[in-house]
Amino acid sequence: MKIFCVGRNYAKHAEELKNEVPDSPVIFMKPKTAVLANGLSFYYPEFSKDIHYEGELVVRISKSAKSLKKERVKDFIDGVTMGIDFTARDIQVQLKEKGLPWELAKSFDFSAAVGEFQELDSDQIKSSSFTVFKNGELVQEGHVREMIFSIEEIISFISSRFTLHKGDLIFTGTPAGVGPIHKDDCFELFLNKKCLLVTDIK
Ligand code: MG
Repeated sequence: MKIFCVGRNYAKHAEELKNEVPDSPVIFMKPKTAVLANGLSFYYPEFSKDIHYEGELVVRISKSAKSLKKERVKDFIDGVTMGIDFTARDIQVQLKEKGLPWELAKSFDFSAAVGEFQELDSDQIKSSSFTVFKNGELVQEGHVREMIFSIEEIISFISSRFTLHKGDLIFTGTPAGVGPIHKDDCFELFLNKKCLLVTDIK
Protein backbone atom coordinates (compact mmCIF):
# COMPACT_ATOMS: atom_id res chain seq x y z
CA MET A 1 0.00 0.00 0.00
CA LYS A 2 1.26 3.46 -0.90
CA ILE A 3 0.25 6.76 0.65
CA PHE A 4 0.49 9.86 -1.53
CA CYS A 5 0.02 13.32 -0.09
CA VAL A 6 -0.60 16.64 -1.79
CA GLY A 7 1.02 19.79 -0.45
CA ARG A 8 -0.31 23.34 -0.91
CA ASN A 9 -3.66 22.39 -2.41
CA TYR A 10 -5.67 25.20 -0.79
CA ALA A 11 -4.73 28.81 -1.52
CA LYS A 12 -5.30 30.07 2.02
CA HIS A 13 -3.11 27.34 3.53
CA ALA A 14 -0.30 28.08 1.04
CA GLU A 15 -0.63 31.70 2.17
CA GLU A 16 -0.51 30.90 5.92
CA LEU A 17 2.80 29.02 5.44
CA LYS A 18 4.05 31.73 3.04
CA ASN A 19 4.33 29.28 0.15
CA GLU A 20 3.62 30.11 -3.48
CA VAL A 21 0.54 28.57 -5.06
CA PRO A 22 2.02 25.76 -7.19
CA ASP A 23 1.40 25.34 -10.92
CA SER A 24 1.48 21.54 -10.72
CA PRO A 25 0.60 19.30 -7.74
CA VAL A 26 3.19 19.09 -4.94
CA ILE A 27 3.39 15.36 -4.12
CA PHE A 28 5.16 13.51 -1.34
CA MET A 29 4.74 10.01 0.12
CA LYS A 30 4.43 8.29 3.45
CA PRO A 31 5.21 4.57 3.99
CA LYS A 32 2.48 2.23 5.23
CA THR A 33 4.11 2.27 8.69
CA ALA A 34 2.80 5.85 8.91
CA VAL A 35 -0.83 4.72 9.25
CA LEU A 36 -2.56 5.45 12.56
CA ALA A 37 -5.95 3.74 12.68
CA ASN A 38 -9.10 5.56 13.80
CA GLY A 39 -9.49 5.72 17.57
CA LEU A 40 -5.83 5.16 18.40
CA SER A 41 -3.73 7.72 20.26
CA PHE A 42 -0.91 9.65 18.62
CA TYR A 43 2.20 9.64 20.83
CA TYR A 44 4.17 12.89 20.63
CA PRO A 45 7.58 11.88 19.21
CA GLU A 46 10.78 12.96 20.95
CA PHE A 47 12.49 14.23 17.81
CA SER A 48 10.22 17.25 17.36
CA LYS A 49 8.98 20.13 19.50
CA ASP A 50 6.46 21.44 16.97
CA ILE A 51 4.19 18.76 15.55
CA HIS A 52 1.25 20.23 13.62
CA TYR A 53 -2.09 18.70 12.64
CA GLU A 54 -3.22 19.00 9.02
CA GLY A 55 -6.78 17.74 8.53
CA GLU A 56 -7.34 16.37 5.03
CA LEU A 57 -9.84 14.52 2.88
CA VAL A 58 -8.41 11.08 2.06
CA VAL A 59 -9.34 9.09 -1.05
CA ARG A 60 -8.87 5.32 -1.41
CA ILE A 61 -8.03 3.69 -4.74
CA SER A 62 -10.18 0.69 -5.77
CA LYS A 63 -8.06 -1.05 -8.41
CA SER A 64 -4.77 -0.87 -10.30
CA ALA A 65 -4.34 2.13 -12.56
CA LYS A 66 -1.67 3.71 -14.71
CA SER A 67 -1.85 6.97 -16.70
CA LEU A 68 -5.52 7.59 -15.90
CA LYS A 69 -7.36 10.30 -17.79
CA LYS A 70 -9.18 12.73 -15.49
CA GLU A 71 -12.57 11.57 -16.76
CA ARG A 72 -11.87 7.97 -15.68
CA VAL A 73 -10.63 8.70 -12.16
CA LYS A 74 -14.09 8.37 -10.59
CA ASP A 75 -14.18 4.65 -11.51
CA PHE A 76 -11.01 4.06 -9.47
CA ILE A 77 -12.16 5.45 -6.10
CA ASP A 78 -13.98 3.21 -3.63
CA GLY A 79 -14.00 5.30 -0.49
CA VAL A 80 -13.26 8.62 1.13
CA THR A 81 -12.55 9.56 4.71
CA MET A 82 -10.77 12.12 6.84
CA GLY A 83 -7.13 11.96 7.83
CA ILE A 84 -4.49 13.92 9.69
CA ASP A 85 -1.14 14.54 8.03
CA PHE A 86 0.92 14.96 11.22
CA THR A 87 3.89 17.18 10.37
CA ALA A 88 7.03 17.99 12.35
CA ARG A 89 6.94 21.66 11.33
CA ASP A 90 10.26 22.52 13.03
CA ILE A 91 12.02 19.81 11.04
CA GLN A 92 10.19 20.65 7.82
CA VAL A 93 11.30 24.29 8.09
CA GLN A 94 14.95 23.19 8.45
CA LEU A 95 14.66 20.77 5.52
CA LYS A 96 13.00 23.37 3.31
CA GLU A 97 15.75 25.90 4.08
CA LYS A 98 18.36 23.38 2.96
CA GLY A 99 16.33 22.20 -0.04
CA LEU A 100 16.25 18.67 1.38
CA PRO A 101 13.50 16.01 1.07
CA TRP A 102 10.59 16.12 3.54
CA GLU A 103 10.36 12.50 4.75
CA LEU A 104 11.89 13.17 8.19
CA ALA A 105 9.21 15.81 8.81
CA LYS A 106 6.25 14.08 7.20
CA SER A 107 6.62 10.32 6.91
CA PHE A 108 7.53 9.05 10.38
CA ASP A 109 5.61 6.27 12.18
CA PHE A 110 1.92 7.06 12.77
CA SER A 111 2.11 10.39 10.92
CA ALA A 112 -0.97 9.47 8.83
CA ALA A 113 -4.14 9.13 10.90
CA VAL A 114 -6.88 7.56 8.77
CA GLY A 115 -10.60 7.48 9.62
CA GLU A 116 -13.49 5.19 8.70
CA PHE A 117 -14.16 5.10 4.96
CA GLN A 118 -17.44 6.14 3.36
CA GLU A 119 -18.63 5.13 -0.09
CA LEU A 120 -19.63 8.33 -1.86
CA ASP A 121 -20.24 8.79 -5.59
CA SER A 122 -18.26 11.37 -7.52
CA ASP A 123 -20.94 14.07 -7.26
CA GLN A 124 -21.18 13.54 -3.50
CA ILE A 125 -17.39 13.78 -3.20
CA LYS A 126 -17.31 17.01 -5.27
CA SER A 127 -19.88 18.65 -3.01
CA SER A 128 -18.28 17.42 0.23
CA SER A 129 -17.11 19.63 3.04
CA PHE A 130 -15.21 18.77 6.18
CA THR A 131 -14.32 20.14 9.58
CA VAL A 132 -11.62 19.57 12.17
CA PHE A 133 -12.31 20.09 15.86
CA LYS A 134 -9.54 20.36 18.43
CA ASN A 135 -10.75 19.92 22.01
CA GLY A 136 -14.28 20.69 20.79
CA GLU A 137 -13.30 23.91 18.99
CA LEU A 138 -13.54 24.30 15.20
CA VAL A 139 -10.01 24.83 13.84
CA GLN A 140 -10.25 23.86 10.16
CA GLU A 141 -12.98 23.89 7.59
CA GLY A 142 -12.54 22.78 4.00
CA HIS A 143 -14.57 22.17 0.88
CA VAL A 144 -13.57 19.94 -2.01
CA ARG A 145 -14.47 22.73 -4.46
CA GLU A 146 -11.79 24.96 -2.87
CA MET A 147 -8.94 22.63 -3.87
CA ILE A 148 -6.41 24.17 -6.25
CA PHE A 149 -6.04 20.79 -8.01
CA SER A 150 -9.20 18.68 -8.13
CA ILE A 151 -9.22 15.07 -6.97
CA GLU A 152 -9.41 14.01 -10.64
CA GLU A 153 -6.39 16.15 -11.54
CA ILE A 154 -4.37 14.90 -8.56
CA ILE A 155 -5.00 11.20 -9.20
CA SER A 156 -4.50 11.55 -12.96
CA PHE A 157 -1.20 13.33 -12.29
CA ILE A 158 0.02 10.77 -9.72
CA SER A 159 -0.92 7.86 -12.01
CA SER A 160 1.17 9.37 -14.82
CA ARG A 161 4.26 8.72 -12.67
CA PHE A 162 3.29 5.90 -10.26
CA THR A 163 1.20 2.79 -10.87
CA LEU A 164 -1.68 2.84 -8.41
CA HIS A 165 -2.97 -0.28 -6.68
CA LYS A 166 -6.09 -1.19 -4.73
CA GLY A 167 -5.89 0.27 -1.24
CA ASP A 168 -3.47 3.10 -2.05
CA LEU A 169 -4.42 6.32 -0.24
CA ILE A 170 -4.28 9.93 -1.37
CA PHE A 171 -4.20 12.73 1.23
CA THR A 172 -5.57 15.63 -0.79
CA GLY A 173 -4.10 18.59 1.09
CA THR A 174 -5.10 20.69 4.05
CA PRO A 175 -7.06 23.95 4.19
CA ALA A 176 -6.05 26.92 6.35
CA GLY A 177 -6.06 26.61 10.13
CA VAL A 178 -3.20 24.18 10.78
CA GLY A 179 -1.50 24.48 14.13
CA PRO A 180 0.50 22.77 16.86
CA ILE A 181 -0.67 19.76 18.84
CA HIS A 182 -0.13 19.27 22.56
CA LYS A 183 -0.38 16.33 24.92
CA ASP A 184 -4.01 15.62 25.95
CA ASP A 185 -5.47 17.31 22.85
CA CYS A 186 -8.35 15.46 21.24
CA PHE A 187 -9.10 15.76 17.51
CA GLU A 188 -12.42 14.92 15.85
CA LEU A 189 -12.73 15.11 12.08
CA PHE A 190 -16.06 15.25 10.28
CA LEU A 191 -16.88 14.67 6.62
CA ASN A 192 -20.28 16.08 5.67
CA LYS A 193 -21.02 16.42 9.40
CA LYS A 194 -20.29 12.74 10.09
CA CYS A 195 -17.49 12.03 12.54
CA LEU A 196 -15.04 9.66 10.83
CA LEU A 197 -11.80 10.10 12.77
CA VAL A 198 -11.02 10.58 16.45
CA THR A 199 -7.54 10.64 17.91
CA ASP A 200 -6.04 12.01 21.08
CA ILE A 201 -2.46 13.07 21.73
CA LYS A 202 -0.39 11.29 24.39
MG1 MG B 1 -0.70 17.94 4.37
